[in-house]
Amino acid sequence: MDDKFSSLVEKALESGAYRAAVIPVSKIETDKYFRKLCEANHCGNFGRSWMCPPLIGEIDELIEKLHTFGSALVFQTVGELEDSYDFEGMMEAEAFHNRLVLKVGGIVAEEIDHGRMLSLGAGGCRICDVCAKRSNEPCRHPEIALASLEGYGVNVYKLAEATGMKYINGDNTVTYFGAVLFG
Ligand code: SF4
Repeated sequence: MDDKFSSLVEKALESGAYRAAVIPVSKIETDKYFRKLCEANHCGNFGRSWMCPPLIGEIDELIEKLHTFGSALVFQTVGELEDSYDFEGMMEAEAFHNRLVLKVGGIVAEEIDHGRMLSLGAGGCRICDVCAKRSNEPCRHPEIALASLEGYGVNVYKLAEATGMKYINGDNTVTYFGAVLFG
């Protein structure tokens, strides 16, 4: 692996990622079908967060944008749960994960001299306790607001396969994926 890529992987692991890898973006499978899952609104964020569908944009355009990048630092975090109903534990693990996505984004930004990049997390943007969209105000932190891999139509199951990572990491754990695209 390229020295620069090895260094990115090492820094992501040092920052708290469970596993990390750099892959070509051409290996990331996307499908606009995932927009249908967002529209089903099981998470309750559809139309209620500036970084969730439909407000983040048309799925075709987002998929096209994603494929304009050359490489992706993909990583996963694994949170421990008390049991499979531990909703609070899942939320804490997701918050940890998305903080890590921002941190890894900063690491990549330095490595590529603050060139063009795109950070994608898991679930909706959790920067604010309540998204400004709920009161129809502008996004409070547009420079760090975080969209999700699913929002961009990424098939996260296939992403796990492409990186050699497990999609699920054992009983009473929750696994989240993130990626920082660059180049
Ligand atoms: S930064 Fe805050 S206001 Fe902006 S999308 Fe995220 S949660 Fe919403």
